[in-house]
Amino acid sequence: MDQVTRQQDSIPSAMPGEDDEIAGIAAVPVAPVTPQERPRILVVDDDPEIHLLAGATFDIAGFEFIGALDGPRAIDMLRGQLPDLILLDVMMPGIDGFETCRRIRREPGCALLPILMVTGCDDIASIETAYESGATDFLAKPINWMLMIHRIRYLLRGHATLAALHRSEARQSALIAAIPDALLRLDREGRVLQFKPGRGVQALGQGGEAAATLAELLPPSACMAIRREIAIALADQSMRELELELPGSGQDTFAFDARLIAIDGEQVILLLRDITERRQRQRVIHQLAYRDGLTGLANRQQFDQDLADALAHARRRDDQVAVLFLDLDQFKRINDSLGHATGDELLRGAAQRLQEVVDQATLGWEAATGPPVKTVARLGGDELTVILGGQGADQIARQVAERVIDRFREPFQCIEHSIVCTVSVGVAVHPSDGATAGDLLEHADTAMYAAKLNGRNTFRFFAPSMGEDASRKIDVEARLRRAVDEQQLALYYQPVVDIEHGETLRLEALLRWQDPEEGVVSAPSFIPVAEESGLILPIGLWVVEEIGRRLADWSQRGMSFGVALNLSVRQFAHQELIERLLELARGRPAGTIELEVTEGLLRDQGVQLTETFGRLHAAGIRIAIDDFGTGYSSLAHLQRLPIDTLKIDRRFVRELGHDPASDPLIRTMIALAKGFGLHTVAEGVETEEQLALLAHAGCRAAQGFLFAHPLTTDQVTTYLERGGDFPWCARARRDAAPAGSVH
Ligand code: C2E
Ligand code: MG
Ligand code: MG
Repeated sequence: MDQVTRQQDSIPSAMPGEDDEIAGIAAVPVAPVTPQERPRILVVDDDPEIHLLAGATFDIAGFEFIGALDGPRAIDMLRGQLPDLILLDVMMPGIDGFETCRRIRREPGCALLPILMVTGCDDIASIETAYESGATDFLAKPINWMLMIHRIRYLLRGHATLAALHRSEARQSALIAAIPDALLRLDREGRVLQFKPGRGVQALGQGGEAAATLAELLPPSACMAIRREIAIALADQSMRELELELPGSGQDTFAFDARLIAIDGEQVILLLRDITERRQRQRVIHQLAYRDGLTGLANRQQFDQDLADALAHARRRDDQVAVLFLDLDQFKRINDSLGHATGDELLRGAAQRLQEVVDQATLGWEAATGPPVKTVARLGGDELTVILGGQGADQIARQVAERVIDRFREPFQCIEHSIVCTVSVGVAVHPSDGATAGDLLEHADTAMYAAKLNGRNTFRFFAPSMGEDASRKIDVEARLRRAVDEQQLALYYQPVVDIEHGETLRLEALLRWQDPEEGVVSAPSFIPVAEESGLILPIGLWVVEEIGRRLADWSQRGMSFGVALNLSVRQFAHQELIERLLELARGRPAGTIELEVTEGLLRDQGVQLTETFGRLHAAGIRIAIDDFGTGYSSLAHLQRLPIDTLKIDRRFVRELGHDPASDPLIRTMIALAKGFGLHTVAEGVETEEQLALLAHAGCRAAQGFLFAHPLTTDQVTTYLERGGDFPWCARARRDAAPAGSVH
């Protein structure tokens, strides 16, 4: 029998007398064993006697016996079901027990298998050899079977514990391998004792594994932060958490969630989780929730939040918060006439300029009570806002308002258009102008409205009276609407006089409102309201109609005079009005109608302007630039567009003879006009001295109280019937010229 395998029930019944030999064994108290729990013990011994004894003993002890008579056969048996323990004799023919043990250890699954070696001698050398060969324990012959059962049980228990430990370690390793985080075991000094790479390790210097210390892995600031947390984790035996931002290549940064867990008093585990993607997603979500999609500025939510924070901070620190409310002048008209793509482009450009102005104005502004708040937001449409929170916010707000108005005078390049879009700004400052966000915003809005009423392209700080102004404006608008329906409008006429001959060249039609409550109201008091409300459009049509009636009346009386009429930028975009003007000019001598437009129009309109000017000019309508010198028209416009006349603003005329700079300025304007082949008209001439100076400078025509105030229809008709000239004009020019004033 090469191999002996005995099941409990197939063990030959103990031979007579054999019981005695193993008598002690029966007395060994053994725990009852269920069949499933019967450990399989492989006995490798060339002595069949031993097999028999082992079989009988095991039977009693509740073990399952299997046996092999030499090493190679034992190894063969291992390739089937593995035993739970091997009892291995040292002295065997062929390969001895030591060698067999070494070979068994190399078999799959046998690294930890308990091997109890049975040596014939208990000399130290063979015990050492047994351990070196991989034996778990040894037993010297002669075998004390009772002791051996205990030894086997002990070894089986030890093995079970060891196997459980190994399984648990394997589970842990699998778990650790499965988590995507980098894992480091560190000592108190930050030395890396163990390193498992993880996602994002490329952000760690030295590639991790090769690093001996944290300092080789992380930049100094992160390293210091971790060292600090290691000390706390070790002292408290706690877990610490922190976020790290590590520089990546170029502009990228990596974000890590770092956790430190104390293992014992000296070591910690550092878990580094790459949260770069999560951060980026959060940024995108934040961007969507708190930024304006078109301009990239803060949106309403962010604005509300920042304003609430700034106010809370200001209340605690006794600081200021300024809110600026900006509205692009005429934005709606640009958007409607040039299309939304251009409108969007304009808004983007405006947002960028505003942001630049705020950045510049707040450069180096460090409030003593903490970092100042500076939010630039778009609340919707063309409403832009700025929050400035900190000491001296009112002064910074003033600077921002001044600079922004200045910057917005330059044209915006939008797709194919060069557009000038000025801005009106209102400012309200906490605490004086309001305690709550709602009050501040409302008051900044009111102040912005006041700036609009003041002719736009300007800024206003809130004043309590502005509320009344605004309600007055609403009242004016309602009454003006009625005025248009109830024919309360009238045109007054002021002569434009040829300086050399003293004759009337044409009459400027000036709008008046004969208000039953307020009397005669002049244009600047109601034109801005009319513009804002759109009432300017029916008013413009009425003006053209009225001029038609007047021209027809004068012509019936045998008089023919030209009329100049004023058009605002908004009116110029009104197609119906342009058609009516063309009709008005039809059949009348060229030059009968002159349009006075402001410089703002030239900057503002692109292709459309050139076309409309061309059509008007072809119909014999002359074009004058009104209030010349106050806007920012470029010489290129004067050259490119069919313009006939420059009207020098009365501000320059008023300073003549008073402000030394005014004389050469007017001379330059007149020379410039001549250079472009244009006529010049000086506005607001009130004294003979002014007239003489203008004549001397080569100005061709003048208008002002010196000749006549604006006249009613009846007055102007009488005036025209009398000839409409000023014979004293030539004399005044000759007599009053003060030598040396204008050269
Ligand atoms: P403007 O076209 O520059 O008109 C000249 C203004 O100067 C008139 O004021 C006139 O009364 C005033 N003026 C004339 N001579 C003198 C003078 O010697 N001294 C002084 N201090 N002022 C003088 P008005 O009529 O109040 O009109 C003001 C502005 O309102 C006009 O400026 C024009 O831009 C606008 N406007 C007037 N009528 C109309 C209109 O029918 N439509 C449009 N869109 N605007 C109009
Ligand atoms: Mg005018
Ligand atoms: Mg004028």
